[in-house]
Amino acid sequence: PYDVLVVGGGPAGAAAAIYAARKGIRTGIAAERFGGQVLDTMGIENFISIPHTEGPKLAAELERHVRDYDVDIMNLQRAAKLIPATGADGLHEVVFDNGASLKAKTLVLATGARWRQMNVPGEDAYRNKGVAYCPHCDGPLYKGKRTAVIGGGNSGVEAAIDLAGIVAHVTLIEFDHQLRADEVLQRKLRSLPNVTVIVSALSTEVHGDGEKVTGLSYTDRKTEASHHIELEGIFVQIGLVPNTEWLKGTVALSPRGEIEIDARCATSIPGVFAAGDVTTVPYKQIVISMGEGSKAALSAFDHLIRLAPA
Ligand code: FAD
Repeated sequence: PYDVLVVGGGPAGAAAAIYAARKGIRTGIAAERFGGQVLDTMGIENFISIPHTEGPKLAAELERHVRDYDVDIMNLQRAAKLIPATGADGLHEVVFDNGASLKAKTLVLATGARWRQMNVPGEDAYRNKGVAYCPHCDGPLYKGKRTAVIGGGNSGVEAAIDLAGIVAHVTLIEFDHQLRADEVLQRKLRSLPNVTVIVSALSTEVHGDGEKVTGLSYTDRKTEASHHIELEGIFVQIGLVPNTEWLKGTVALSPRGEIEIDARCATSIPGVFAAGDVTTVPYKQIVISMGEGSKAALSAFDHLIRLAPA
């Protein structure tokens, strides 16, 4: 069995594997897709001390760094089930889609999250070419440009307020007949001169010129009329979904499905830790996930040195 088995190969999982391996303990990392969301990212400008890099490059460097250590890397392995330790051996078991299973004294769960998509024509084709999901990451790229934010919940309204300070204009588009964000955020939003709010609107298509986004179509759900907005950027803020479907009924999850962790990345199951976008940690970012993964591995090590000698 492993001392530490990391599930997930994004920034959080890679950091956890490196921190664990540096303690000289038996470490494995299993991931559906090594690199995680970073693979879907183009320019990254907030990875502190590296002013500019690109997602696929950073993903390759994450893997190279992990390979510097004595870590078993199992790529293209999707975890299907967690069986927490019950027996005297104290081993947790992770069962994979292909039926294989791995056992470990401690686990670091780092399966990340995915942005909910609008699922309209043009969205995929113009991803990273005007369609964005992360205002902290990509907001500055739209300085002085026209943008839309899709979604009037807290994250959409926060994104609109954030972007309004950077871009020329923000159109906030909400499907429902009213915004769902906290009133204090809505008040702030309404005070901004360069924000237009459109409710009861269904986004229908992202338009582009082949290279980048040029506009957005939506249908007014009250009148059924179709409208077109010319703009350069669209921030989709209709939910970040944690990849925890495989954990239901085991580790404690928040109402949003995130793994609940404490300040040391401990979950509700002793010996099982979690890190990064899959958890309740506030703000989902690469540097934050790396810090969290490191913390989870150190907590796993701390747990191991307290176990009774075998
Ligand atoms: P993830 O990166 O989501 O990695 C999760 C890992 O778990 C993957 O290896 C995945 O394959 C694996 N996995 C999932 N389910 C299973 C399973 N059942 N079994 C096994 N493995 C599984 N952040 C920034 O800081 N700066 C940016 O510029 C930036 N730009 C972004 C642009 C885009 C388009 C996107 C989508 C995100 C961006 N982010 C950016 C956010 C950043 O990518 C995430 O915060 C970060 O990748 C989270 O790391 P993580 O390791 O927690 O999870």
